[in-house]
Amino acid sequence: MVDLFERLIEARIPFKENLSGKELSAYRGGGKVALVAYPESVSALQKLTAVAEEYSVPYLPFGLGSNILIRDGGFDGIFVSSIGFRNIRAEGNRLTLGGGVALKRAAECAAENGISALEELTGIPASIGGMTKSNAGAFGKEMADIVSEATVFDFKTGKVSKIPRADIDFGYRTSGETFDKKMILETVITGCRSDKVKKVSEHYLDQRKKTQPSFPSLGSVFKRSAPGVGIGYYIDRAGLKGTRRGGAEISAKHGGFIVNRGGGTAGDYLELKRLAHDVVFRKFGIDAEDEIEIIGKDG
Ligand SMILES: Cc1cc2nc3c(=O)[nH]c(=O)nc-3n(C[C@H](O)[C@H](O)[C@H](O)COP(=O)(O)OP(=O)(O)OC[C@H]3O[C@@H](n4cnc5c(N)ncnc54)[C@H](O)[C@@H]3O)c2cc1C
Repeated sequence: MVDLFERLIEARIPFKENLSGKELSAYRGGGKVALVAYPESVSALQKLTAVAEEYSVPYLPFGLGSNILIRDGGFDGIFVSSIGFRNIRAEGNRLTLGGGVALKRAAECAAENGISALEELTGIPASIGGMTKSNAGAFGKEMADIVSEATVFDFKTGKVSKIPRADIDFGYRTSGETFDKKMILETVITGCRSDKVKKVSEHYLDQRKKTQPSFPSLGSVFKRSAPGVGIGYYIDRAGLKGTRRGGAEISAKHGGFIVNRGGGTAGDYLELKRLAHDVVFRKFGIDAEDEIEIIGKDG
């Protein structure tokens, strides 16, 4: 890694070493990531990719870490932060948003410009790139409903291209393979004109606060098994709410979340996830599928 660090310094790509899950993951626990790079241009991305390929170091795009659990043994690779790509433009009923723009900022811009599109999603602690990749959704609205185009950097070819909505393979909390080995630099969102954006956003934010825990988490652990029914419902019925392992807890407020009550490790999280999965399978025959992403080595 030392040679690689030197190459990044030569290429003037800002980076940090050995950041932990406490700093990177919204769960506020988990192992270390060897390197987080902060490219701010396509040419920096090209240089970074070339160096990572030369040293055979794995790398992946990184937004705000609200869906990523880093196993306690850490990740010997590079998180490519999108934070350097945070341009915002509002035109008519369209918002052009950099991949590293936080939803909070995007929602403010939408409200300032009277563009109705993101209200239901308000409060998801995520970046636009991460949300586009995972087709984030809430209260019946998902990114697939409002995205009209994405601009991507292709890690394999080093080229930038635009992908129209029709070519994005959106499904429930997924965009299929559309963005594999790609970094979303920009997403265009199309909404409609409204003067009630702020009010409606506040309503959904309020709903979110009422139902979701305030402790650090990664949001829903599992994908819904059927429309409208979250796995949290079955976890609740199985009596698992409030179950703890180390510093982690199956939220006493919302069974679909595993929260960090303080000092929770990735191992604690994974133990509770396995327990919830196995009990729900035994009692209800539902083979719950992960919504969160898990990377790195066991501790
Ligand atoms: C409290 C809480 C509430 C949540 N509520 C919801 C909810 O209501 N609905 C919902 O759908 N999700 C929810 N989530 C989950 C999470 O916010 C979403 O999955 C979100 O889309 C992840 O965005 P991120 O920027 O944090 O991405 P990260 O967690 O950093 O990354 C997630 C994935 O996206 C990829 N990625 C990130 N940025 C880019 C990019 N620029 N280009 C290409 N790939 C990229 C990463 O490689 C990774 O595969 C919640 C999470 C928390 C902590």
